[in-house]
Amino acid sequence: MSVNKQETESYQAPMLSEALRDSFMQAYAKSTNGELEDELGDNVMILCENLVKIFKTKETEVLALQGLELKVEKGEFVAIIGSSGSGKSTFLNMIGGLDRPSAGKLYVDGKDLFKLTEKQLVTYKQQTVGFVWQNNARNLFPYLTALQNVQLPMMFMDGKNMEQRAMDLLNLVGMGHKRDSKLSQLSGGEQQRIAIAIALANKPKLLLADEPTGSVDQKTSDAILDVFRYLNKELGITIVIVTHDINLATKVSRVVMIRDGKTSSERILRSEKKREELKGFTEEEDTHDEYVILDRAGRVQIPREMLDEIGVKSNRVQLKVENGTIVVSPTETDRQKS
Ligand code: ADP
Ligand code: MG
Repeated sequence: MSVNKQETESYQAPMLSEALRDSFMQAYAKSTNGELEDELGDNVMILCENLVKIFKTKETEVLALQGLELKVEKGEFVAIIGSSGSGKSTFLNMIGGLDRPSAGKLYVDGKDLFKLTEKQLVTYKQQTVGFVWQNNARNLFPYLTALQNVQLPMMFMDGKNMEQRAMDLLNLVGMGHKRDSKLSQLSGGEQQRIAIAIALANKPKLLLADEPTGSVDQKTSDAILDVFRYLNKELGITIVIVTHDINLATKVSRVVMIRDGKTSSERILRSEKKREELKGFTEEEDTHDEYVILDRAGRVQIPREMLDEIGVKSNRVQLKVENGTIVVSPTETDRQKS
């Protein structure tokens, strides 16, 4: 067999097969029968409140998530950004049902993830979420072809034409021509695109990806992002990706930043109108509005750089309301020190 090692670079939006489109539309139309739907509202995909995860080892306890807050609506495309060790993977694993949180609230697609039994969790992982791993070797079985890899998760599905569906999925991510290639014959970007097709095999409502562009160059990274954008726009799949790549931030409509296991701020793509108004006033790249997260108890996390800038040295600040604005200032003692 001749091996085509040439990289598939850009992503061209495919001709979407009707059968494939219908299969996703049906999956999304179905009522979730979630007991919590009334309380949460129909349009909420993820609701996470004060989420805590503690890893216990013999000697130490690591507080990986310390009260994380996030709400994602159905059909949204969200990127979670944070430096290494900030708790991104831990959080994604909780949403994906791969590990259990220690405290807080976590609802996905009308299900309370704290209350799912082990058996329900298995079904949840098969039917509700699709996961793209950071490590490609974990996504693809090396001795199977791309097509076989996509077919594999469908074993638990009933229905015919699995091969055709797998082929449709490969075409969807622009990898139809690599159907017979194995892991070692694929570039990093190609492996990631096939991993996305595998994650979609069981029509998940929620697609999760951990550093999907972690080990590829800029051009390949853009192509992978294009695939996600297309899936979100054309099939309405809710997508949450995790990354430490700040460049991605300008390309996704909603970016949530995590710092030390807590959601610290959010950037939301400005409306076309607002961008038009601001033209010429701000940097060209500044397309997003930035917000800090306010939790239920009224807590906000103020970035250390900002505190340093105004000369906060102690663990106290002064708060007052002035002309409809809340002003944070250093204490008298801190002011005298600087
Ligand atoms: P990120 O993905 O943002 O780089 P992680 O979620 O992997 O961060 O890790 C967050 C913190 O939790 C880190 O301090 C990490 O060392 C710790 N951690 C993650 N997984 C485990 C584990 N299984 N056991 C102990 N500590 C862990
Ligand atoms: Mg990680």
